[in-house]
Amino acid sequence: MRRNYNFSAGPSMLPEEVLLQAKEELMDWRGLGVSIMEISHRSPEFMELTKECEQDFRDLLNISTNYKILFLQGGGRSQFSMVPLNLLGNKKSANYFDTGIWSNLAIKEAQRYCDVNCVASSRDTNYCTIPPKDSWQINDDAAYVYYVDNETVNGVQFPDIPEVNELPLVSDMSSSILSKPIDENRFGLIFAGAQKNIGISGLTVVIIREDLLGHALTITPTMFNYQVHAQENSLYNTSPTFAWYITSLMLKWLKKQGGLSAIAKINARKSQKIYSFIDSCDFYQIDVDPRYRSQMNVVFRLNDDSLTTNFISEAKQTGLINLKGHKLVGGLRASLYNAMPEQGVDTLIQFMTDFAKRYG
Ligand SMILES: *Cc1c(COP(=O)(O)O)cnc(C)c1O
Repeated sequence: MRRNYNFSAGPSMLPEEVLLQAKEELMDWRGLGVSIMEISHRSPEFMELTKECEQDFRDLLNISTNYKILFLQGGGRSQFSMVPLNLLGNKKSANYFDTGIWSNLAIKEAQRYCDVNCVASSRDTNYCTIPPKDSWQINDDAAYVYYVDNETVNGVQFPDIPEVNELPLVSDMSSSILSKPIDENRFGLIFAGAQKNIGISGLTVVIIREDLLGHALTITPTMFNYQVHAQENSLYNTSPTFAWYITSLMLKWLKKQGGLSAIAKINARKSQKIYSFIDSCDFYQIDVDPRYRSQMNVVFRLNDDSLTTNFISEAKQTGLINLKGHKLVGGLRASLYNAMPEQGVDTLIQFMTDFAKRYG
C-alpha cells in the first residue's frame, strides 16, 4: 500500500496516526463491543467524548468560558444563513468584506435576509489581494462585521485579525482554524467546516460569544437556531457521531504535536518553502499579492498553461494528488493543512524542480 500526499483543499489529508487509531478502534470502541457509529449520541460514553472534545478545543484555542462551542451539521454553507438569521436581531444590515469566492457566496446568502454593506472588495483584482485598511467602509449601525480569514479558492489570507469597531466580528475560518493561535476574544463568532483542518465532512464547529445567543429572527428554523443547540449541548438531533469522533482524535493529535504555536511554526515553514521556491523559478507564477498569500492554500500556475494537464498527471504518478486548481481560478493549488507533513512539501518541490527541468 502507498499513501499519497493529498493536496486537496477539502476533504483533505488526515494524519496517519489518526486513521490508524480509527481503524484499530473500529470494531470495538472503548470495550463496548460495538463501533462508535453504532452507539447513541446520548449514551454516557459518547457524551464523555463530546465533553473531552470541547475541552481540547478550549485548551488549543484558549477559548474563554463566555464562549459556547457548538458541534453542528450542514457545513460552512449553512452558516452563510445561520449567521444572519441569528445575529441580525433588530438591525437591517450587516457588513461584509468581499475578498474571494467564499465571501461572495456568503454575501449572496445574507442578501436574502438583510442589506449587505460591502466594507471593501478586491473583486476587480480577481481577488488577488486584501483591500487596504484606509478604504474600508464600515456601517456602525449594522449588526456585525463578517470576513473570510482564508479564501481557500483564491489563496488569499488576512495576515491579522482586521481591526474593526465595536461590532461583533464574525469569521469564516473553514480553511484556517487551528492552523495558528488566535486571540479568540476579538471575535463574536467563528465557524468552520471540519473537513479541512479539523477532521472530516459532516461536522461544523461554531464558537459563539454567549451574549450573541437568543436573538434569532422568528423565521429561523429550529435546526438553524444557535441557542437551541447551545441549550442542548449540540445533541438536539442525532449528531454526526463518527465525524465528531474523528475530530476528537485530531485534537488529541494536535496537542501531541505541541499545540497551535508549534503547528504554526511548521505551517509557516511549509508555505514559505513553496513560495520561495516558486519566486526563485520563472517556470511557475503566483498572482496573489505577496503580502496576503495564504499559508494554507498555495495557488499558483505554470507560465505555459498548456503544460498544466501534464503537470497534474505526472505529479499523480509520483504520489502527489489533487493539485488541480479550483475550476473558477484554474491553474494549480497545493493545500497545506496541519496534516500535510513537511516531507510532502519537500517531495512536491522536488517534483516541481524536475518538471521545470524537463519542460523548461
Ligand atoms: C470549504 C469552505 C466553505 C464551505 O464549506 P462546506 O462545508 O462545503 O459548506 C466555506 N468557506 C470556506 C472558507 C471554505 O473553505
